[in-house]
Amino acid sequence: MKILLVEDEHRISQAIKKGFEQEKFLVEVAYDGETAWDLASTNDYDAIILDLMLPKKDGLDVCKSLRLEEIHTPIIVLTAKGDVSEKIEALNCGADDYLTKPFAFAELVARVRALCRRPKLQQGAVLKADDLVLDMRTFEVKRDGKLIELSRKEFTLLEYLMRHKGQILTKDQILLSVWDYESDVLLNTVEVYIGYLRNKIDKPFKTKKPLITTVRGFGYKIED
Ligand code: CA
Repeated sequence: MKILLVEDEHRISQAIKKGFEQEKFLVEVAYDGETAWDLASTNDYDAIILDLMLPKKDGLDVCKSLRLEEIHTPIIVLTAKGDVSEKIEALNCGADDYLTKPFAFAELVARVRALCRRPKLQQGAVLKADDLVLDMRTFEVKRDGKLIELSRKEFTLLEYLMRHKGQILTKDQILLSVWDYESDVLLNTVEVYIGYLRNKIDKPFKTKKPLITTVRGFGYKIED
């Protein structure tokens, strides 16, 4: 496992680096946002640990730039204590997880391991989950070769689930990614739309296994 650690406070970054090396990770360190961007956009890492307050280019900018360039390396952001808006902003900029300072080193390791284990995002224009195919070029969805009519919202939701195939997605994550954060939607909305999708994708295919599963207490996922 090779990770990029972006933290400008030398004392902290050295401690984290040492800790991860003891856990058999390879660690590269960047002390400012520009170096982080250079390294992350040219090398392959299994995960990035990203501090937000950085010289030259802040963490949110680094995160945004990477996602704009279609670089989907998992990112865990280190945030200041209790700043909720900062966390939401980080997730909106494409971070996968966050951890509030000060944190226990063991927790950081556990979270980074979890990120590294995540299946890579499905990219490209044609997404697949078992016999379900979603084509971004034609906006067509087919299961077992049969065309399925979806509304625009259902399509966006399905695309999000399929891009994160195999991952458990919380209602919050779904809401932030599929619905505009500003708009007045309720958590209940996610449930309702998951229901609509099930009626179209799983229910008519009774002899097949359901593709959308509920992970009680956590959220939803779509599987192969
Ligand atoms: Ca900092």
